[in-house]
Amino acid sequence: MSNKYKIALIKGDGIGPEIVDEAVKVLDAIASVENISFAYNEYLMGGCAVDVFDNPLPADTISGALNSDAVLFGAIGGPQYDSLPSEKRPEMGLLKLRKALNVFANIRPAVIFDELTEASTLKEEVVKGVNLLVVRELTGGIYFGEPREKKEDVAYNTMIYTRDEIKRIAKVAFEQAMQRDKKITSVDKANVLEVSKLWREVVIEMSKDYPEVRLEHMYVDNAAMQLIRNPKQFDVILTGNIFGDILSDAASMIIGSIGLLPSSSIGGKVGLYEPIHGSAPDIAGQGIANPIATIMSASMMLRDLGELKAADRIDNAIKDVLKEGYRTHDLANFDAKEVVSTEEMGSLIAEYATK
Ligand code: NAD
Repeated sequence: MSNKYKIALIKGDGIGPEIVDEAVKVLDAIASVENISFAYNEYLMGGCAVDVFDNPLPADTISGALNSDAVLFGAIGGPQYDSLPSEKRPEMGLLKLRKALNVFANIRPAVIFDELTEASTLKEEVVKGVNLLVVRELTGGIYFGEPREKKEDVAYNTMIYTRDEIKRIAKVAFEQAMQRDKKITSVDKANVLEVSKLWREVVIEMSKDYPEVRLEHMYVDNAAMQLIRNPKQFDVILTGNIFGDILSDAASMIIGSIGLLPSSSIGGKVGLYEPIHGSAPDIAGQGIANPIATIMSASMMLRDLGELKAADRIDNAIKDVLKEGYRTHDLANFDAKEVVSTEEMGSLIAEYATK
């Protein structure tokens, strides 16, 4: 009997369908050599759902996601939706899906491939060996806080965290740190924001349960600077929703391309797996998007499902393909033996993963 998983696929907009198709190709290749099988169901979210249902998150997508073992997601958004009222915007679909799945912890590993140190905008000696993990709170903070309003001449949002919300994300970060180098940098703005003062207080309390983990605190402005100055000082970065959003994009440039950063969002019954980048409308439909972040997200999904061997196959295949010198267009200048399309990169990884 093979392990069978029900996967909800949400391809989304822009490059979303292109990159999710490649991840599925790799998953199917893995299924052919490991004792696993996948049953996929596709759901609409984002701009494509607005086009069909006038709703960025149809009820069918929520129930489909909740009734699966995991959700693999591409990206949503596009300029044609920018003028819609905020409730109809594609991004609102994603925010609501995260909330519906109760995936309050977003895990974003940023690990540099030895073959791609040159692709970073930072010096090789600064980035070689970077291996950090951003643990970002995902369903609270200023992105969800009420009240929120835009009037003609004034607009406001609310940055709010409860003790329990901070506790549960801190616990995820401490547990992750225990599997790694046992160091946490908690990023806040406690010199200015009350919400950050509570954040810091709760994280310090939690640290008492993890005496082996070294805990340090850093203001977000300093953290942005330190990420560029010396990213190797970080092991686990624990932070809130908006700070994590911004810092993990900065971390992507350390790694060389935003097309290389995967993420998992966990905490509820069903996990959500997605690249950290957006729908890249500027390159959509050209076959040049890098599918690696999405394929790595599929590997994180397999790991969380307990399919460690299958996940290792994918991670090793990505390393091997890069070692062989295959590069997508975003990495074309960096030691490329051959520049390949989105589809070709997916096929190469699928092939190497089954060797
Ligand atoms: P983006 O991440 O889509 O693109 C930023 C830049 O990175 C672009 O130049 C793009 O071409 C490039 N890029 C992104 N992914 C790439 C990949 N896999 N391979 C090669 N290059 C890649 O960010 P943006 O341009 O600010 O936003 C575009 C749309 O995506 C907006 O509508 C935004 O709201 C949405 N967005 C969605 C998500 C999500 O779905 N999770 C996240 C961020 C932005």
